[in-house]
Amino acid sequence: MLSILKDFLLNLFFILIPIFIVPIWIEEKNIPKHIKRHLLTVCFALVIVLCITIPVSSDQEFIFDLRQIPLWLGSLYKGAATSVFLCFVTIGYRSLFGGTGFLVTAITSLFIMVTSIALAKKFLTLSSKHRVLLAAALCAFSGTLSVVLAQTFHRIPSSSSDISLAYLSVQPICMLITCSLKEMIYKNMALRKRIIRAEKMEAVSHLAASISHEIRNPLTAARGFMQLLEQHHLSPEKRKQYVRIAIEELDRAEAIITDYLTFAKPAPESVEKLNVKTEIERVIDLLRPLANMNSVEVKTTLAPFTITGEREKFRQCLLNIMKNAIEAMPNGGVLQIYVSIEKQHVLIRISDTGIGMTKEQIERLGEPYFTTKGIKGTGLGMMVVYRIIESMNGTIHIESEIHKGTEVSIYLPLSSNFHNLTNEEKKLFMAL
Ligand code: ADP
Ligand code: MG
Repeated sequence: MLSILKDFLLNLFFILIPIFIVPIWIEEKNIPKHIKRHLLTVCFALVIVLCITIPVSSDQEFIFDLRQIPLWLGSLYKGAATSVFLCFVTIGYRSLFGGTGFLVTAITSLFIMVTSIALAKKFLTLSSKHRVLLAAALCAFSGTLSVVLAQTFHRIPSSSSDISLAYLSVQPICMLITCSLKEMIYKNMALRKRIIRAEKMEAVSHLAASISHEIRNPLTAARGFMQLLEQHHLSPEKRKQYVRIAIEELDRAEAIITDYLTFAKPAPESVEKLNVKTEIERVIDLLRPLANMNSVEVKTTLAPFTITGEREKFRQCLLNIMKNAIEAMPNGGVLQIYVSIEKQHVLIRISDTGIGMTKEQIERLGEPYFTTKGIKGTGLGMMVVYRIIESMNGTIHIESEIHKGTEVSIYLPLSSNFHNLTNEEKKLFMAL
C-alpha cells in the first residue's frame, strides 16, 4: 500500500511542477508570446507522457496513473485546441504499450475531450471554488468510467483491484489539490498585477499635483540669479556663471513643459475619432528640427486607421516617444514609424537605431523621475506615455538592445467604424 501511495505522490509531483513553474516563466517578459501561449499545453503533454511511463501500477493489460488530471486541466482551462492535442497525445502514447487498457484510454480520453470542449466556456465563468469542485467531480467520474470499462472489457485481476479502488479515491483528491493550487497561484498573480497598477496610478496622481511645483522651482531659481545680475560690483566671470545657471534652469522648466504639458489644455478635452496617420505626421512635423539637428532620418509606413481618444493627449504621447528616440541617437540614425493592424488593434511601432537600454532600464521605464539624461532629462516623458496609453485602453510593449536600438510598440483598440466595414473595404482601407 505504501509503495502505491509513493507512486501516486510521484505522479502528483509531475503534475505540480508545471502548475508552479509555468506562471513564473510566463511572467518573464522576454519569452515570445506564442511560446507563452503554448507553454502550459506542452508541459501538460509531457506530464501525461511521464505519468504513463512511470505509472502507479501496470500489468500486461492496464496502466494506472494520474494522466487524466493534466488532460482535464489542460482541456478545461485552455480550450478546444489544447483538449484535442492532449487527447491525441494520451491515446497515441498509450497505444505504444498495447493491452485492453488502450481501448479504455481511447474511450475515456475522447469522453474527456468532448465533455471539456462542451464545458470549457462555462467552466471559466464559474467562481474559483466551483471550478475546483467541478474539476474534482469530473475527474471522479472519468476515473469511475475507466474502471467500469476495464471491468467490462477484461476483468481487472484481483491483484489490481486494490489499486483500482485506491485510484478511484486518490485521483479526485489529487485533482482537488492541484486545481486549488492552480487557482491560488493565479489569484495571487492577478492581485499582484492589480497592486502594481494601483501604485503606478497613485504615483501619477500625486505627480499631477506636484507638477506646477516642478516648474515653479527652476523659474524661481532663474529669477533669483537674474536679480543677482543687477548688482554692479559683479566680476564678468560671476556674471557669466549666473547667466549660465539661469539658462539651465529655464531649459529645465521648458523640458518639463515639453514632456508633460505641450498639448495640455486648461479644460478637459472630448474624446473623438482620430486618424492615426494625420496625428503621426503632425508630430513628425513638430520634431523635424530636432531630428535634423541630430542628423536623424525619419522613415514612415503609415495607414489612416481610426482610433478613439483625446487628440492632444495622443499627440503628447507620440511626441514623448519620438523625442526619446531622437535623443537616443545623438550621432544620427534612423527613426522609423510603422503602422498596421494586429488582432483588431492598431499597432504603432516606433523604432530607433540609438543607444538602446539595459533590462533594468526597461523595467524602470515609466517610473516618475527616472532618467539617464542627468540635468537635461525630466523622467516624466515615459510616465506620461504609460498614463495616456492606459487611459486609451491600449497596451505598450518595449524591446531594446544596448547599442542597437529601441522598438516601442503601441497597441490601441481600433475605432468601431472599422469593424463595420466588409472584408473588401478593409483591404482597400489598409492599402491606402
Ligand atoms: P527623459 O527623456 O526626460 O529622460 P523619459 O521618461 O522620456 O525621461 O525617459 C526615461 C529614460 O528612458 C531616459 O532617460 C532613457 O534612459 C530611457 N529611454 C527612453 N526612450 C529611450 C530610447 N528610445 N532609447 C534609449 N533609451 C530610452
Ligand atoms: Mg523623454
